Amino acid sequence: MLLTISTTARPATDLGFLLHKHPDKVQRFGQSFGEATVFYPEAGEQRCTAALLLDIDPVALARSRGKGSPDFSLSQYVNDRPYAASSLLAVALADVFRTARAGRCASRQELADTPLPLEIRLPALPCRGGPELAERLFAPLGWRVEAQPVLLDEGFPEWGESRYVRLALSGTVRLADALNHLYVLLPVLDDGKHYWIASDEIDKLIRAGGGWLRDHPERTMITRRYLGRRWAMARTALARLAELGDEPEERLAPAVSEEAAAEETAADEAAAAEAEAHAEAAEPETAEAEAAASEGAGVGKRKSLNLQRRIAVLETLEELGATSVIDLGCGQGELVGALLARPRFARVAGMDVSSMALTIAARKLKLDRMPDSKRDRLTLFQGALTYTDKRLSGYDAAVLMEVVEHVDPPRLAALEQVVFGHARPGHVLVTTPNIEYNVRYDFLTGLRHPDHRFEWTRAEFEAWAARVAGRYGYRVSVKPVGEPDPDLGPPTQMGVFVRD
Ligand code: SAH
Repeated sequence: MLLTISTTARPATDLGFLLHKHPDKVQRFGQSFGEATVFYPEAGEQRCTAALLLDIDPVALARSRGKGSPDFSLSQYVNDRPYAASSLLAVALADVFRTARAGRCASRQELADTPLPLEIRLPALPCRGGPELAERLFAPLGWRVEAQPVLLDEGFPEWGESRYVRLALSGTVRLADALNHLYVLLPVLDDGKHYWIASDEIDKLIRAGGGWLRDHPERTMITRRYLGRRWAMARTALARLAELGDEPEERLAPAVSEEAAAEETAADEAAAAEAEAHAEAAEPETAEAEAAASEGAGVGKRKSLNLQRRIAVLETLEELGATSVIDLGCGQGELVGALLARPRFARVAGMDVSSMALTIAARKLKLDRMPDSKRDRLTLFQGALTYTDKRLSGYDAAVLMEVVEHVDPPRLAALEQVVFGHARPGHVLVTTPNIEYNVRYDFLTGLRHPDHRFEWTRAEFEAWAARVAGRYGYRVSVKPVGEPDPDLGPPTQMGVFVRD
């Protein structure tokens, strides 16, 4: 596979500085799956081109598979990977141009910060979705895009087009941004990268896409394809991207740090190798199949547990006499719908960090057809639970149903302050999985959801609840939800906090 990057900035040989690769040298970089070579077919004052050539060694690729991957099949040998492995090209690019991708240039930082006239060419790029897709992905990032379908066989034009395009991008773009665009979008175009997904894939995507993905019109599709169609992970990534907008600028990490880049390369290589090994085990393609999978086909009785949890929350709210309720991290609005169906709840609010979850909630609640009398009781808005927000105040009760475990532990104190310290409703209900019960789920090997940052034992949850209650002036009792196991406790635990 070949990728070329050219510039006509003067002097064009500055490209060598930025890429940290000298134009006079041919340099080779061993990869676990082959060899990457960087050379400059032209290096003049007016125009300079760097080329990255990737030779994939199918045997090395097969050998570099991680332990525990299933038996290899013939597909490792009989496929187009050596010629068109664009996700491996992305991995090699991340490795070879690590510092450039981080946007750093010790001697000439201003050069790294400046958008330059660039041309990028990929003579044969697998592109599921055809040339239009390449346009939809790159044009919003400021690239002029020429994508021509490559014929299956030039001698037989009647055979039609292959799934490859010849891609040429031109634009005035910071080199680091250009490299990050390629790093994320090449595998997205190929749509074949991550059949095996490491848990840090979301972090990598957010790091590489931090400056541009959030506002990209195709962010949902990009995220979904990048994460190998794992819908639950894509949802989390989109939520985190949405949350990026709330972060003050200086808190946004630089696109890639040196250490992170180093770790990333190793992890990426493993992931890519695994991806190859699993390439045949495609994910469900239909929305229904995905919904079923993310609804927890692998999590046993999740559906009925969902219902039991909702009923437990509703009954507790009624017992407490709450008439206004805010559902924090409302997801797709199931509880909000149930609350609205009960007239005693005069005011109902749903808040979530994910705009996509809210869009789905609005659709499921049939917001556009809701009678005014009901619509007037409802407020649905986007927000992050880790930032103080006046809109969270003024409700009798707040519910955090299966939400705390989605928050990174270092951010949990911020959530506590926002909910118990600032919004300070009379009652707070918090439900969360009881990790002890997980052994009862046959299919489960880790936590109950790929986005869970932790799950608590009964003792851990009780200790957390008692600490928070003590600190913010609440009393708390913990109730079981779902059929308890005599040794392991209930599947879900619910803390009922009442303000002193
Ligand atoms: N309460 C719903 C959804 C649980 S899934 C239910 O029980 O069905 C967790 C939800 O929390 C997701 O919708 C996610 O977008 C949301 N979430 C995660 N972190 C958040 C944060 N910091 N602020 C607000 N919502 C958050």
